[in-house]
Amino acid sequence: MKILIVNAGSSSLKYQVMDMTDESTLAKGLIERIGIPGSCLKQTVGEDKRVIELPMKDHIEASKQMIMALTDPSHGVLESMDEISAVGHRVVQGGEIFTTSTLIDEACIDAIKDNIPLAPLHNPANLMGIKACLQVMPDKPMVAVFDTSFHQTMAPQAYLYGFPYEYYDRLRVRRYGFHGTSHRYVSKRGAQFLGKNMTDLRIITCHLGNGSSICAVDHGRSVDTSMGLTPLEGVLMGTRSGTVDPAALQFIMNAEHIDIDEMLEILNKKSGFLGVSGVSSDMRDVEKAAEQGNKQAQVSLDMLFRGIKKYIAAYAAIMGGVDAIIFTAGIGENSPELREAVLSNMEFMGISIDREKNRIRGKEANISGEKSQVKLLVIPTNEELVIAQDTKELVSQLS
Ligand code: ADP
Repeated sequence: MKILIVNAGSSSLKYQVMDMTDESTLAKGLIERIGIPGSCLKQTVGEDKRVIELPMKDHIEASKQMIMALTDPSHGVLESMDEISAVGHRVVQGGEIFTTSTLIDEACIDAIKDNIPLAPLHNPANLMGIKACLQVMPDKPMVAVFDTSFHQTMAPQAYLYGFPYEYYDRLRVRRYGFHGTSHRYVSKRGAQFLGKNMTDLRIITCHLGNGSSICAVDHGRSVDTSMGLTPLEGVLMGTRSGTVDPAALQFIMNAEHIDIDEMLEILNKKSGFLGVSGVSSDMRDVEKAAEQGNKQAQVSLDMLFRGIKKYIAAYAAIMGGVDAIIFTAGIGENSPELREAVLSNMEFMGISIDREKNRIRGKEANISGEKSQVKLLVIPTNEELVIAQDTKELVSQLS
């Protein structure tokens, strides 16, 4: 069975074809600048990289180009789209409605629409991708896989904010959490790596990329996570502030004569590594600047290390202990410096890192010191595989 995985943004569309007989990736593609000048499709098949520049006015046009690229006689991987059994779509916000992945039908589309106020930037783009695919592949079963659904197991004391209860009751203001497919994948894979079942373990997963979130996975269930109503809450990120004192916003807005939209733009796009270091949103640039003696760059790194440490200790406390800590995504997989800084001086919690084993990037590894009671792992994430697996499972139930 071959599955097409689609992740649509407002002006982009990422896709992948997976062969589920061995869960291998046959082709990967990225279409950028949809609806704006300079549209471009990049497709990778093994060593073969292909770039096609041509105008694509909307997601429907982009989906048609994706199909042409996938079925191209010399650079494609499919003889025809008949080989694709189903399409799996990434959807950011499933609200409280979607606790698991689901087959896409009219009711599902309406529910994704209902969640637009909770994710005004993401859900409309995800819907555009779904609708475009339904238009160009009307006979294919389609599945939606939500970033939020893994966290729907959280209890009210984890997901409620200290606002008047009516804001939850009427407006559904609460912690939803994100990166659920990644936290789910690495916790399961990490348990397999240790030869254990995730339902026997208390795991803390650290997804650290441009956006970062930490999750407490207690016996296979998400019981707390650092992102909230939106992906702005939690630790310091590339351009996002993470958690701040909400009253500081009024102070800054009054002093700088800016409105709430401008303030949120600053919190989302101009803060984090970029804002504090003044150098870059990219961890590599910030590390380089810090090495060269830039104090603001160093303090931004120290803020992230400290923030992650605090979540690790807090989540161990709520789970009554921790058996494994897992690092994943761009920074988690590739920065030995971050892992060492976060995990050092944690012997009081039974955590000790092996500095030699920690010198790896981008591959599965056990980096625990000999005496560490807590297993410390690096597990590269694979959100596309989770989407493909869920799609396969739901589609198999159809026949
Ligand atoms: P996204 O959240 O956009 O998917 P990624 O998971 O790709 O982001 O992570 C991007 C981050 O990973 C950037 O801050 C980048 O600097 C960092 N990163 C990638 N490679 C390395 C590396 N070798 N060392 C340190 N950081 C790295």
